[in-house]
Amino acid sequence: MNYSFRKKNKTVKYIVIHYTGMKSLKKAYLRLINLNSVVSTHYLISKKGIIYNLLCPSIKAWHAGKSRWKNDKGINDYSIGIELENKGHEHGYENFSKKQYQSINNLINFLSSNFNIKHRDIIFHSDISPNRKKDPGEKFHLNKLEISRFGHLSSNRHNYSIVELLLIYGFNKNYIKKYKKHCILSVKRTLNYKNINPHLSKKFYFDFYNLLFN
Ligand SMILES: [Zn+2]
Repeated sequence: MNYSFRKKNKTVKYIVIHYTGMKSLKKAYLRLINLNSVVSTHYLISKKGIIYNLLCPSIKAWHAGKSRWKNDKGINDYSIGIELENKGHEHGYENFSKKQYQSINNLINFLSSNFNIKHRDIIFHSDISPNRKKDPGEKFHLNKLEISRFGHLSSNRHNYSIVELLLIYGFNKNYIKKYKKHCILSVKRTLNYKNINPHLSKKFYFDFYNLLFN
């Protein structure tokens, strides 16, 4: 099997955005619908902007793997997965197309109103598995989504530590402890940094603060 059923006490509250990381759309599609593949998703969006609905969102798809976000563990239980066609870092990472942004915006609109998902809960695979995953990566532009992911946050304080900022961003406490460097790399991708390195800089701190509070 490559999917299972949702438990009654675990309801959908997140949308997780991925890239397929495969050489072609066909390969990705065939893998995602293969019952022996151990991976699946609810939606797949091609470069042309076509939305393929592969599983009903009321079914639990297996897209996130080992993952944590805020205080939740095993994010497949709580999420809808959207895969964007892209060869990914291993096979030739490409820009996402205008049509993909159009389609993902339409889909997010539809899903967030039907499942009552908050903007703050539309997240990336690299957020919930920072030690293992890079997708959708630094070529995916959060500001092209018609959402305000950090709109609920405001602060007059300027002296946050990096750990405090990572917590406010939403990383799981244990993951910050165990994978702090990976969490920082993940935020650098969200900020569309071209050079992804684990070193902290004043610029990063400033950009991170502005991402959250502006
Ligand atoms: Zn992924």
